Amino acid sequence: MNKLEQKALSELESLQRQSLRRYLRSFDSFSGPTITLNGQLLINFSSNDYLGLATAPFLRKAFADAALTYGVGSAASRLISGTLPPHTLLESAIAHFKQTEAALCFASGWQTAAGVIPAIVSQNDVILLDKLAHACLVDAARLSGAKLRVFPHNDTRRLRHLLEWATSQYPSSIILIITESVFSMDGDLCPLEEIVQLKDHYGACLLLDEAHAIGVIGPQGSGLAAHLNLSHRIELQMGTLGKALGVAGGYIACSKNIADWLTNRARSFIFSTAPPPPVAAAALAALRWLLSPEAQTRIAHLTHLRNQIPNLLPSFAPTPPPAAILPILLGDEKLALQTSQQLLNLGIFAPCVRFPAVPRAKARLRISLSAAHSLDHLHQLAHALQKIIPNIPPPLTISKPIA
Ligand SMILES: *Cc1c(COP(=O)(O)O)cnc(C)c1O
Repeated sequence: MNKLEQKALSELESLQRQSLRRYLRSFDSFSGPTITLNGQLLINFSSNDYLGLATAPFLRKAFADAALTYGVGSAASRLISGTLPPHTLLESAIAHFKQTEAALCFASGWQTAAGVIPAIVSQNDVILLDKLAHACLVDAARLSGAKLRVFPHNDTRRLRHLLEWATSQYPSSIILIITESVFSMDGDLCPLEEIVQLKDHYGACLLLDEAHAIGVIGPQGSGLAAHLNLSHRIELQMGTLGKALGVAGGYIACSKNIADWLTNRARSFIFSTAPPPPVAAAALAALRWLLSPEAQTRIAHLTHLRNQIPNLLPSFAPTPPPAAILPILLGDEKLALQTSQQLLNLGIFAPCVRFPAVPRAKARLRISLSAAHSLDHLHQLAHALQKIIPNIPPPLTISKPIA
C-alpha cells in the first residue's frame, strides 16, 4: 500500500473512533417539506430551503426557459464572454433588493467569500473575525494573508479591545470585521447595531454574511441589516442564492467602486466560469418573487412556525428562534448520531452536526424550519423528540394545525 492510501485509511479509522466519520447518503428526491431516503418518506428538517422554493414550479420554469434561451453553461468567465442578460439583471436586482449601488454574483457563497476577502485585504491589513463564522469566511480570511484575530462569539467587549489594538498598531491599515447576521449552527443573531457602532467609531469596515437571514428576516426577507435599517452603513453585504432563494450562487452587495474593484481583483470571479445562465435566471426569478404578496404570506407562515416552537419544545427553546434554525445541543457525538438515527426511524430527518462544523463535544441536531412545513409537521417532530429524549416535558397542547 502506498503512503497516500495508508494515510487515508488511518485518517478514516481515527475519524471512525471519534464518531466523526461522514458518509454520503444518497436521497431519492425531495420536495417541499419531505425527502425520500431508500423509498422511505421523511419529514425534512435538514434543508436550508427556508421558503420551499427549491422545487417550486415557477422556478423550474424560469430555469428551463433560460436553458432554452441561453444554453446550459456560460462557456466563459464573466470578464471574457460569460456575462449574459440573466447575470446583469440578477446583479441589478440584488443591488435593488439590498439597497446598495451595486452587486456581483458568484457561482456560490463559498466562492464569494474566497474571492472578496483576499481581494480587499492583504498582509498589511487586519481581519477581526467572529469565532463561530462559517468555514468559508475563516478560509478566505486565512487566504488573504491579513493579520487575523478571532473574537469570542458575539463578544463586543473583546471586539472593542481588538479594534483599539488594531487602530493603534496599524493606523493606516484596513480593519475588516467579519461576522454573520444568523449563525449557521447556533441560529442566533449577531449584535449588529453595536458592531456597526463600533466599526464606525474606529473607522473599520464590516463584511456581513446574511446567508441564513435572507428570505427569513427583515422587510421582504431582505436580511438583518435592512431590518435594523443599517444597510447603508455596511460596506460589504454577502449572501447566498442557494438557501432561502432555493437556487445556487452567492453575491456581494456593495458600492459601485468596490464592485468594480472586485471585478478586477476577486480571483474566484475572474478565473472561474460564470454561473450557468439558467441558475442566474432562476435566482433572479426567486428574488423577484420575494417582493410578491405571496412571498410575504409565506414568510409570515415561517414566522408563525418559529413562534410556535416554545409551545412545542419548551425545554429546548423557551423563546422563538430568531431565524429558522433550531439547534438541539446533545454534546456527545455518538449520542447525537444515535438520536438523529432514532428520529429517522420515526420518519423525521434532522441531521446531526459534529466537529468540525461545531466544536468537539458540542454535537447537536440542527433543525431547519421551512415555510413548506405545516404546524402538523412540527407536532410530529415534537412527539418524536419526546419519545427519544424522554426527559423533555410533553409539548403543550396547542390549536389545530393551520392549513
Ligand atoms: C452556506 C453558507 C455559505 C456558503 O454559501 P454556498 O452558496 O452554499 O456556497 C456562506 N456563509 C454561510 C454563513 C453559510 O451558511
